[in-house]
Amino acid sequence: MKMKIKVDKSKCTGCLLCEITCSLSHCGEIQRETSAIRIQLNDLDQELHQPVLCRQCKKMSCLKSEGKERDDELQKAFFWDHHPNRREDCPFNALFAFKDRLVHCDLCQGDPECVKSCPTGALKTGS
Ligand code: SF4
Ligand code: SF4
Repeated sequence: MKMKIKVDKSKCTGCLLCEITCSLSHCGEIQRETSAIRIQLNDLDQELHQPVLCRQCKKMSCLKSEGKERDDELQKAFFWDHHPNRREDCPFNALFAFKDRLVHCDLCQGDPECVKSCPTGALKTGS
């Protein structure tokens, strides 16, 4: 069964350590734009920040406009080409644009760094 990162937003403090860790581990720099997890900060209620990231869908609707199966290859890739429909076809808004590419969670090839960095248990691996 496919691994996913499960989110418990009730535990998210909005510390952004997951974003920092993701960009640092993939690109060697701290830069929100190159993180595949994004925290939607809620300035009105500090208890309800929302981590957003790829749900590793079995059927990847983000690729439906391609008409071909590249799921396995792209599931493992961190940067994707910025195909015009891909971002919009993700129902979870889980693809993020960076320059001419899209940033997508590659699960750190099976050992997600964001999960290890999260101090509250808001992120966990599961299936
Ligand atoms: S990018 Fe969106 S549609 Fe594609 S696998 Fe991830 S969550 Fe699913
Ligand atoms: S590291 Fe955990 S608590 Fe901090 S912003 Fe990310 S998900 Fe939320």
